[in-house]
Amino acid sequence: MAINFGRISIGIYVEIKRSDARRKSNCVKEVEKLQEKRERRRLQQQELREKRAQEVDTTIPNYEIMQMIRDFRASLDYRPLTTADLIEEHRICVCVRKRPLNKKELSVKELDVITIPSKDVVMVHEPKQKVDLTRFLENQTFRFDYAFDDSATNEMVYRFTARPLVETIFERGMATCFAYGQTGSGKTHTMGGDFSGKNQDCSKGIYALAARDVFLMLKKPNYKKLDLQVYATFFEIYSGKVFDLLNRKAKLRVLEDGKQQVQVVGLQEREVKCTEDVLKLIEIGNSCRTSGQTSANAHSSRSHAVFQIILRRKGKMHGKFSLIDLAGNERGADTSSADRQTRLEGAEINKSLLALKECIRALGRNKPHTPFRASKLTQVLRDSFIGENSRTCMIATISPGMASCENTLNTLRYANRVKELTVDPNAVTEGVRPNTNISNQLDVMEEEWDLRNSPQRDDLKLLCEQNEEEVSPQLFTFHEAVSQLVEMEEQVLEDHRTVFKETFRWLEDERVLLEMTEEVDYDVDSYSSQLEHILDQKIEVLIELRDKVRSFRSALQEEEQASKQINPKRPRAL
Ligand code: ADP
Ligand code: MG
Repeated sequence: MAINFGRISIGIYVEIKRSDARRKSNCVKEVEKLQEKRERRRLQQQELREKRAQEVDTTIPNYEIMQMIRDFRASLDYRPLTTADLIEEHRICVCVRKRPLNKKELSVKELDVITIPSKDVVMVHEPKQKVDLTRFLENQTFRFDYAFDDSATNEMVYRFTARPLVETIFERGMATCFAYGQTGSGKTHTMGGDFSGKNQDCSKGIYALAARDVFLMLKKPNYKKLDLQVYATFFEIYSGKVFDLLNRKAKLRVLEDGKQQVQVVGLQEREVKCTEDVLKLIEIGNSCRTSGQTSANAHSSRSHAVFQIILRRKGKMHGKFSLIDLAGNERGADTSSADRQTRLEGAEINKSLLALKECIRALGRNKPHTPFRASKLTQVLRDSFIGENSRTCMIATISPGMASCENTLNTLRYANRVKELTVDPNAVTEGVRPNTNISNQLDVMEEEWDLRNSPQRDDLKLLCEQNEEEVSPQLFTFHEAVSQLVEMEEQVLEDHRTVFKETFRWLEDERVLLEMTEEVDYDVDSYSSQLEHILDQKIEVLIELRDKVRSFRSALQEEEQASKQINPKRPRAL
């Protein structure tokens, strides 16, 4: 029994052992299965992650924003501008050009926040944050006459912007074409041509393309019989001063005669016979413009470059085409800079861009008075803003990067105010909030500023009134101080030069006088009265110059004080 029992027990034991082993193996299997599943899941997830990572680079700093922009773009119906599109006739044409992301931006994985869904719409996807820190996109939409995507070539931009203006100058009109935007947004690329790398190809810029068509047009029978000559000028306006780029940067004076005709005294006008002649001048001017500069943009961002093609008939002006590569518009902190030069530069740029906007707006409305005297730029271009037959075009260039968002919005708002086109929300896509234009209702500025009676100051005042949202009273005072400073500087320099020349005449007179005294019987009366006369003259002239220098110096101080008071008003957020 015992054995049996034992056997049984052994048997049972074995049985138990066997079933246990069976149970264990099931368990292991289960576990193994689970492990396998987990492993498979892990692999799947890994694959998914890798797949996602290929679609969206998760190392991109703002990748959720990027995803949102992608989703938004996917919902759009793209209808970009093509050469088949009609070239419309505009007296004032305002358009926008977006450049591609550059190497540097691509290397830091900068996001492209600009979408151009159709031939005249620009959208800015501005990343914003809610109170609970969730991020969302604020899409702002603007409409212009044309919108050029980053794939548009200079030829394409030219076709719709400057090309229609070539005929204007043959029809005895004045034409202007401006490139406006922040530094690095593509103004010079558009106007002057591709300057990237060592090889400067100015043959593809709007300057050259316009020149090419001028010479083509000249051959047409209608115009050929007019016997027109073509001339070119190239100059730069920097801090309210004009420099001739075709004459080793000679500083030029701007004069206005009694008939309000503005003249740049001594500006070189070179006759050009073919496109190659023009290209040579552009090269000369460009090298002159940037000479001595470590970076081409460092200087050009602070000056306006004006290239003009002038048609003359028997010496008389027939038409003029001014193509302007404007100074970078990204100013703001400049006016409170510790460095006077920077302040003056900044003030002049702000003022000239405001004045430009008002002059173009006035042209569009046939207003009799434009505040053209408020800046050198608008003063020099005055004849282009008046007259029935004047046409203008503005190309606002924008950078696509998220880092440039604020500057881009400022550029678009400015361009929008030059010509207020409304957005048709249905034309874009549903759910997109159209950008409402800032109303142009401005309160009349307080009259407490004691303005002296000068046309420049009157225009400055008008300008500030028209841009009250952007120009605070303190900024106006500062602008006034700056204008006064620039005027005084010119006067002091002019007077100093005159006195300097006069000094030689005095010296000569005195030499003759002294020689006279060497005669034995010289006329003492005559000598002393002549000497007294010369000294009186000298004293009078020198005192006058000294007083001018003194008031110039106190104006310098006033400017410094005014610059510390500025509380610049930012354009109101839309
Ligand atoms: P800005 O004159 O406005 O300061 P640039 O014309 O010098 O700007 O352009 C800045 C950089 O971007 C240059 O290297 C230029 O070659 C490049 N760039 C500008 N626009 C374009 C474009 N449409 N396509 C390709 N590169 C461009
Ligand atoms: Mg430039």
